[in-house]
Amino acid sequence: MNIETQMIPERHDLGSAIGYAAENIDACILCRKPPALLGCFIADDPERYLPVKKKPGKTRALFYGLCDPCHEHPDKLARIEATFEREALRAKN
Ligand SMILES: [Zn+2]
Repeated sequence: MNIETQMIPERHDLGSAIGYAAENIDACILCRKPPALLGCFIADDPERYLPVKKKPGKTRALFYGLCDPCHEHPDKLARIEATFEREALRAKN
């Protein structure tokens, strides 16, 4: 699946980042249908999930949309993590 990996300008507060994500994410990360909710993934090892190096002292929050059916899926977290990892690898190559 091809998701849009979009780096946004550095945000200094979480509220600003959430607002940006809510306004700009218009598809479920897993199936591309309209999302019902906004999720946030904070990885222990962000370089595994991002095509750029992490800045020291910064937290990388990856926002995504999720529709109701995908939200109900028992393996949703593993599928979301795998999607971010796959997209980061694709962007690096
Ligand atoms: Zn979905």
